Amino acid sequence: NFKKKFGQNFLIDNNVLNKIVVSAEIGPNDGVIEIGPGIGALTQHLATAAKKVVAFEVDKTLVPLLDETLADFRNVSVVFEDILTADVKQVIDSEFADCDRIHVVANLPYYITTPILNFLLTADLGLTSIVVMMQKEVALRLQSSEGSKEYGSLAIFVQMLADVDIALTVPRTVFMPQPNVDSAVLRLRLLEKPRYDVGEMKVFEQFVQAAFKQRRKTLANNWSELFGGKEQVYEVLTKAEINPNIRAENLSIAQFVNLFSLFNRL
Ligand code: SAM
Repeated sequence: NFKKKFGQNFLIDNNVLNKIVVSAEIGPNDGVIEIGPGIGALTQHLATAAKKVVAFEVDKTLVPLLDETLADFRNVSVVFEDILTADVKQVIDSEFADCDRIHVVANLPYYITTPILNFLLTADLGLTSIVVMMQKEVALRLQSSEGSKEYGSLAIFVQMLADVDIALTVPRTVFMPQPNVDSAVLRLRLLEKPRYDVGEMKVFEQFVQAAFKQRRKTLANNWSELFGGKEQVYEVLTKAEINPNIRAENLSIAQFVNLFSLFNRL
């Protein structure tokens, strides 16, 4: 009895489980946070590779099953709380004090992929990497660059903070029950500090989001409200030597950063 509302699709392929653990580059002195251990298949592999694993699971009915599958592992603890409301920072500070690096590795519940990524990237958890299974379409969006139709504000935000690549793509047949979509494991190797200095990241994010407000419109149209008129947008684009009829999807991250600083000086 799988719980659809918790996004429960369990991995049943040892080969895929191994590949996820390898792509997470876990050292023997590292700590791992897992989100949604389910019945503990990935957890067992993580516990073999890492010094310590702390897993957050929202579904309390899994307690007896996890007790059984993880009985042989002394370095795993399961916190039965929602990852989005748990005090993850406190758990990290108390559980991973003696670890070299901390990774998040998970086969995510797909219905909350974006909120979880947002949380992990803004909560200042001191993570080295985030290696997570998600819907393939979302992974493609997050690793896309300018000029592709998948490119958008979420990709820019994530790539401001991390080097991003797809570690593996995974067919739906390796899950039980099978989901309706294919999956991919996205790897985020977090940077020491943001790729560019933009001050308050939230404000930069809003600036970028406004640019993508209506994808079919030009940048000047999408930004005109924020800038207080199209003329001001043209002024900034001219200063940056960018074609005034450009669309947001054709601007690189470096160009967005440059335009943001010119906008702030208007
Ligand atoms: N790791 C297992 C595997 O690979 O087979 C299960 C992955 S399953 C796709 C997602 C898991 O996340 C489920 O066990 C589900 O109960 C759990 N989950 C869903 N929402 C959650 C939340 N807000 N916080 C923590 N765990 C959650």
